[in-house]
Amino acid sequence: MDKLKRYIECYIPTETCNLRCHYCYITQQRKFNNKLASFSQTPETIRSALSVERLGGKCLFNLCAGGETLLSEEILDVIKVLLEEGHYVMVVTNGTLTKRFDEITLFPTQLLQRLIFKFSFHYLELKRLNLLDQFFENIEKVRACGSSFTVEITPSDELISSIEDIKAICLQKLGTLCHITIARDDRTSGINVLSDYSFKEYQNIWGTFNSALFNFKTTIFYKKRKEFCYAGDWSLYVNLSTGVVRQCYCGRELDNIYDDITKPLNFNAIGYKCTLPHCYNGHAFLTLGNIPELITPTYAEMRNRVDNSGRNWLQPELYDFFNQKLADNNVQYSLNEKKISSIKDSLYGVWKLPKKILKKSKSLMIKAKKK
Ligand code: SF4
Ligand code: SF4
Repeated sequence: MDKLKRYIECYIPTETCNLRCHYCYITQQRKFNNKLASFSQTPETIRSALSVERLGGKCLFNLCAGGETLLSEEILDVIKVLLEEGHYVMVVTNGTLTKRFDEITLFPTQLLQRLIFKFSFHYLELKRLNLLDQFFENIEKVRACGSSFTVEITPSDELISSIEDIKAICLQKLGTLCHITIARDDRTSGINVLSDYSFKEYQNIWGTFNSALFNFKTTIFYKKRKEFCYAGDWSLYVNLSTGVVRQCYCGRELDNIYDDITKPLNFNAIGYKCTLPHCYNGHAFLTLGNIPELITPTYAEMRNRVDNSGRNWLQPELYDFFNQKLADNNVQYSLNEKKISSIKDSLYGVWKLPKKILKKSKSLMIKAKKK
């Protein structure tokens, strides 16, 4: 069995989509800009920058765009090189771009076994655009080629009147219900649930899907994390276009994967300094074990479902990889190391300062010259 070394959350800078979901984070913030991801580096450079050797072992990558991840054709090469390197890759998609699935399912079988698609089931948009059949056909394609998949709904108030229809179509097409995530309102300082219902009512309504993903997420939503978190070491947040590496959605900028790909990367855990109101994607970060003392289900449980014919959504090799904890393959910091890591973390700001001042003074000089 391959050992899970790190979890790498990747931002893909595609900020457009062929759907227009009303609860979309991009729609909420009016950020659709018709921008397709373009990578400053070749796929081979991306592979070297994120090699198994540089990352210390095989990692789990999550590729998620600001819009639809598969809209950009270039992403196919990125998926392929990461798989060729030996990593496991998750692709978040709305499941409608059949041409892309046709191309990916032609990858060699040994690569497809380490690939999983996270199908976001945007029921109202699929119905409006008459794409429901296409969506489920693409899921079948993924299953047939030996990759894994998971299906999840973003539960919004507008969907509540369609719950029975959604359950019926899931049972008919998937042989089981889909998973449920939590819709968030990123415009609120507390990153609240996007709903007019109370959290308790929301839980009662969507809890009827008996989704392990939803059940776990409701236990961590609105809970500020105060424990020592290994984000920044055991997990990273990487912008694949610019190469910038951050500790997590919050925290320090640690490095740039493209700066000098022969150099080891800087890792440093965020520790007690998470500034987010709650760990809204803790169904990945926390179940994989960024906070080792927290008892949680495994990430495999968050993603798998068994259908009424006994078939698993996750293929065995990928299931085993997802079923591990990061602490199984990483050494926890001693008390002293935790202190040193915190000092190192504070110093990042200090050594970044002269660079910032230099940059600022350069731009002031350029402005002055133009005048
Ligand atoms: S499919 Fe995803 S990116 Fe596209 S509009 Fe819906 S939520 Fe937004
Ligand atoms: S607690 Fe969650 S959001 Fe905060 S740094 Fe850790 S993984 Fe990231």
